[in-house]
Amino acid sequence: MKNFKQLYLLTIKNILIKHKYISNLSEFKKLVELYKTKKRVAKSQFKELTIDNSLSKSDIKDIIQSLNKSNNFQISNSNINKLTSRINQIYTYYALLEYDNWTKCFITMPEKRTKKKPSTGSFIHEFQLKVSKHSLKKYNIKFNAAKELYNAILGELLKRYKLMLSDIRYQNAIEIYKQDNLKTEAKTIFDKLNIEYQITKNDLQKLAKDIKNKCYMKDHLDSVSIQKLSDRIFDTYTKWIYKKGGKPRFKSWKNGIRSMEGKSNTCLAFKNNIFSWNGIKSEIILQKNDKYGVQEHALNSKVKYCRIVRKIIKGKQKFYLQLILEGLPKLKSNQIFDNGRNGIDIGVSTIASVGKEKALLTPFCQELNDIEKNIKNIQRKKARSLRLNNPDNYENDSLVIKDKRFLKRKGKNIKGKTIWIKSNNYLKLENELKELQRLQASKRKYLHNVLANKVLENGNDIIIEKNNYKAWQKGLYGKIIGKKAPSFFVQTLKRKALKSGGTFEEVNTWSTKFSQYCHVCDGYHKKSLSQRIHTCGENEIMQRDLYSGVLIYHYDLEKKKVNRESIIENWSGIETFLRQALLTLIKSRNEGNISECLIPKGVEKRDWLVKGSLSA
Ligand SMILES: [Zn+2]
Repeated sequence: MKNFKQLYLLTIKNILIKHKYISNLSEFKKLVELYKTKKRVAKSQFKELTIDNSLSKSDIKDIIQSLNKSNNFQISNSNINKLTSRINQIYTYYALLEYDNWTKCFITMPEKRTKKKPSTGSFIHEFQLKVSKHSLKKYNIKFNAAKELYNAILGELLKRYKLMLSDIRYQNAIEIYKQDNLKTEAKTIFDKLNIEYQITKNDLQKLAKDIKNKCYMKDHLDSVSIQKLSDRIFDTYTKWIYKKGGKPRFKSWKNGIRSMEGKSNTCLAFKNNIFSWNGIKSEIILQKNDKYGVQEHALNSKVKYCRIVRKIIKGKQKFYLQLILEGLPKLKSNQIFDNGRNGIDIGVSTIASVGKEKALLTPFCQELNDIEKNIKNIQRKKARSLRLNNPDNYENDSLVIKDKRFLKRKGKNIKGKTIWIKSNNYLKLENELKELQRLQASKRKYLHNVLANKVLENGNDIIIEKNNYKAWQKGLYGKIIGKKAPSFFVQTLKRKALKSGGTFEEVNTWSTKFSQYCHVCDGYHKKSLSQRIHTCGENEIMQRDLYSGVLIYHYDLEKKKVNRESIIENWSGIETFLRQALLTLIKSRNEGNISECLIPKGVEKRDWLVKGSLSA
């Protein structure tokens, strides 16, 4: 605390010395006069003056930082930020009101920030809205206005960015940033330039407000949701700048904006089961059988803020209200999971889960394959229709010789063509495709949830291999893996496990070589992908995915290796319930529910599956 106060006083001293120069400028004296009548204008002009005379907010921050360093005060960055804004604020008043004494501007010294408030958990509950024809029109006008605002802000932002890009100081900063020990210095230059070129969250919020108030949008949009919209743009922009995301894209007239949200249940508000947004009101549709009381729990929770979502279902627009609520979601009563460890192995097409006395082996989201086939089909049809109607946009077909045979290869489309004729059939296919893609996404979500619940029955202390699913997608297994979204599934599993009081641990398999380890001989056996059974020498031990599950179940997190002794000790018990899991799967295959490639026919005749207690 003592350090903090000293830093504060030292900073003021420094500023006062610099301010002496400014206070003698005639420009400044005019501003003081102006402040008496037009406060806002004077303030913003004063801001520019301080930038020119190196007393802007970022300069003040520099002063504080260097004082902090040279005096070894060790004040944290977040406190420096807070001090900066406060001092900057006080300084503006001090200067423009021509105070003779700094202390007149404030009564108390800015406080040092203590620990952050613990954040209360939150969860989402979705209701469909009962929307009349009239409100549907109104909502659409709002969404379209939001889309246009989004594009306008993004356009301006990219323009400003382009301008900054051509600034030699920016290019120098990039060079500085490349050196490892100069990163923070480069960052301060970036910050400064961002302020100068008006690329900050605040600038964008202001821009959004200005654009809205100058045109028809002011009748349709509220001031809070556009703030959130501009924040959204700024976030995607920052991600892009730091190479964590793609270039922000303009919203097309076709897809537009998907959702809008407010802050703290105002502007977009939900009260007494009625949602209202700028004068338009809609009732929510309640679910009639609320068996587990989930809906009731949601309605009784405190609303943090509201989000309205526009979805297109079977070609029709539907509006949904998502409430972001305070607290924890209510678990459905059939979702009480076993305690205890659960080793999980996610393969390309299967998932294995091994608990203390139970195991599960099942295909991973196999039901999505059919939808994917249909999607591919429609995409091909679309491409064919487009080619047929726009022959001029493609290069000529060519003949290629392959394996001593002539093959016809279709011409590529010519780049830069903007006019495409789309037949009615094409547009119909486009709608069908959209519907299928939506169906795929919702079905995937459903399957993930069901599967996660099933897996958690084996135990909620999850231990799982850390996989790079993106690499899978790029490598051998192709895009179908992406459609099944295994990494999303892992997130679902994690969320559910933690929610039910369990734990979640990811193990780096690269160092442990799980898939090759063998507990029988304490060695490693290389397996090809098609080999579905773990063998040691001549002996077949167990189905490969289940075996991986066992290894990960017996993984010692501290020693970072598989606990071989405990596997050997418990093997006969483990073998029994693994076999049980396999038999369940085989039964399901025989009933035609599972494709054969997963478990080839004849597996049930293997010795290791029939022998022992099960055959009795
Ligand atoms: Zn072995």
